[in-house]
Amino acid sequence: MKIAFDKIINHLKTQGFVFQGSEIYGGLANSWDYGPLGSELKNKLKSCWWNYFVKRNKLNVGIDTSIILNPKVWIASGHLGNFNDPLIDCKSCKSRFRADKLVEELYVDINAGNLNYDELESFIKENKISCPKCKSFDFTNIRQFDLMFKTFQGPIEDDSAKVYLRPETAQGIFVQYKNTQRALRKKLPFGIGQIGKSFRNEITPGNFIFRTREFEQMELEFFFSPNDTNNWFDYWLKKVQDFILNELNIKKDNFIVREHDKEELSHYSNKTVDIEYEFPFGRGELWGIAHRSDYDLSQHQKFSGEDLSYLDQESGIKFIPHVIEPSVGVERLLLALLCDSYCEEKLPNGESRIILKLPKKLAPYQIAVLPLQKQQSELSVKLYEKLLLNFDATYDESGNIGKRYRRQDAIGTPYCLTVDFETEKDNCVTVRDRDSMEQKRVNINDLSNYLTNN
Ligand code: ATP
Repeated sequence: MKIAFDKIINHLKTQGFVFQGSEIYGGLANSWDYGPLGSELKNKLKSCWWNYFVKRNKLNVGIDTSIILNPKVWIASGHLGNFNDPLIDCKSCKSRFRADKLVEELYVDINAGNLNYDELESFIKENKISCPKCKSFDFTNIRQFDLMFKTFQGPIEDDSAKVYLRPETAQGIFVQYKNTQRALRKKLPFGIGQIGKSFRNEITPGNFIFRTREFEQMELEFFFSPNDTNNWFDYWLKKVQDFILNELNIKKDNFIVREHDKEELSHYSNKTVDIEYEFPFGRGELWGIAHRSDYDLSQHQKFSGEDLSYLDQESGIKFIPHVIEPSVGVERLLLALLCDSYCEEKLPNGESRIILKLPKKLAPYQIAVLPLQKQQSELSVKLYEKLLLNFDATYDESGNIGKRYRRQDAIGTPYCLTVDFETEKDNCVTVRDRDSMEQKRVNINDLSNYLTNN
């Protein structure tokens, strides 16, 4: 059953996952802050990605580059000049839209990103597309809108001090490719991963944390020889799907794999596949896997004058490596994970419960310690403090036990440990499983073992 998006958003706000940014000042459009549970989950998601794609992969290494780079980077990469969207305004209510998205929302089979501005304008007129807000047909002409955030470095605000906030983390990797390869004495094929903030002055941010102007990306740039006969594209596409299915437990039926047709490909890519997730508001891009060829390194070699070629020791041949890039937004992945794990269940006693069926290792808390009655508080706090040394744990003694179980289900805590009047005598607690609601009596001395192995 598809759950209404509003319900999920409301749940995440009230439970302390996501707050509206600058809320006490009336908010800032489409900006979101991550509360205690959201930031914990986000950190775990990032470290899960980092472990899978960087730390535990023998071919790859990680890097952390600046948000503000030399502006020449963006000329070389093609972002200055090319990174823009078609902007259209409704003359009647002054609402602003991305013209291609306006078309695609009504005509899902049309790839409006391929149409030039004249074609887009004609399509909107011929198909009598009206303003989604006020239904007027009176639009301005389409104008080019630059997505790069600009600022100034240093005290003087003139053109020579103009810099940009990065719109993707990838270019930081390309710029440091040679240093990394040399310092770590890496041989092809190898990858460099990075997690970090990116900024895009999106015309129409929205759908909660799906599209924002400030977001984080997790990107891997995988470098290989153009003569390498391995199919690295398929290799990384498979890895990404394995990560989604087996690390995040996202259901197979909730995403599709879609290859871009020729017209849809970016200027730098000769093959791109998107993984699209069925969000409650519709299907949207989650993860892009692109073959970027030798475009980026060639461009940076040309514009910087640095030799970025690789010398193959065996053949003595020099060449510019080719690149496969799997790129995903942290918040989009987080949103997919949350939508996928949110469920509502009717209980045999007629009550209902909300559960976040998050993978156990990603849940903000792994354990909640609950004294059955106030008399067991002291013993429970001691147990809680002991567990905190090795687990992400929380403690709750307010309200009846049923309510406290519901509270932990709603934030995805896999295990509740209840301390009762018997605990002092038999040194055992009741361990309740979030999903099955099964309860087992476990000795406190065996807890660590039990919790790590279940
Ligand atoms: P879209 O078509 O949705 O604008 P894109 O094709 O421009 O996305 P890429 O440039 O390929 O996106 O960026 C790689 C990944 O970064 C995307 O798959 C997405 O997960 C994430 N991402 C891109 N833009 C945003 C944004 N404004 N807010 C949140 N995540 C984003």
